[in-house]
Amino acid sequence: MALLLALAVFTASQGGVVQLTFPDEPGVKSVDVDWQKKKVPFVRIQERWMTVIGVDLDLKPGEQTADVLFTMEDGRVDRREAIIKVEPTSFPTTELKVEDKYVQLNPADLARATREAKELDAIHSKITNEILWQEPFSVPIPGGKGSNFGHRRIFNGEPRAPHGGADLRAQTGTPIHATNRGRAVLGKNLFFTGNTVIIDHGLGIYSLYAHLSRIDVKPGTIVENGQLIGLAGATGRVTGPHLHWGMRVQGARVDPFSLVEMKTNEK
Ligand SMILES: [Zn+2]
Repeated sequence: MALLLALAVFTASQGGVVQLTFPDEPGVKSVDVDWQKKKVPFVRIQERWMTVIGVDLDLKPGEQTADVLFTMEDGRVDRREAIIKVEPTSFPTTELKVEDKYVQLNPADLARATREAKELDAIHSKITNEILWQEPFSVPIPGGKGSNFGHRRIFNGEPRAPHGGADLRAQTGTPIHATNRGRAVLGKNLFFTGNTVIIDHGLGIYSLYAHLSRIDVKPGTIVENGQLIGLAGATGRVTGPHLHWGMRVQGARVDPFSLVEMKTNEK
């Protein structure tokens, strides 16, 4: 029995992702990690067990521990500890001017926004126990850049939640492509994000595309990496047309570009 007893140490940034990998060993049936009160499955790829965990932009910097549980064919569970070193990221503050109805919500809009926030939470907290992609993640607008992830935001003078995604410049009508293969789980109009598409990529990884002028996917269908899912627009709470691209990893708000930069099938 060649169990790896050394403590595994991984480094991460606030608002980033960490790919955890362990070599496969004889007799291992499944591997999971307890991370931030969630149980995240690993998948076996070639000779390794792999998963991706998200570090929320507001997670406290410092050392966090994660229990990695190896369930053996005979039912035994071998527990190992992984240390996730979270480094701080500095997020600037931005002030924005939008229509007043998106800052001072009337009762009907408030009820709608509250209901939709619950619906989004329910989607993002579900961890699908499979991996639906093999290729690296791609930018929904090829060559697009967006550096405002995590910015602390003040709308019309009122502090609001930090920016949970990256905004990519786009004119209305610009084609928007899926960041990776997955299953569409939402395609409809929401109060804040306008016409919105969400794709489940498995392992608790979700991509969200907001403010679209048109939606081109049906919930429940499989979407390929790079597939057209809609057109950019200016629906919902916006200052002008653009793509808001969000990524959630087990509910954690992470910089979408941290997934694009992640190496896949690392050896
Ligand atoms: Zn945005």
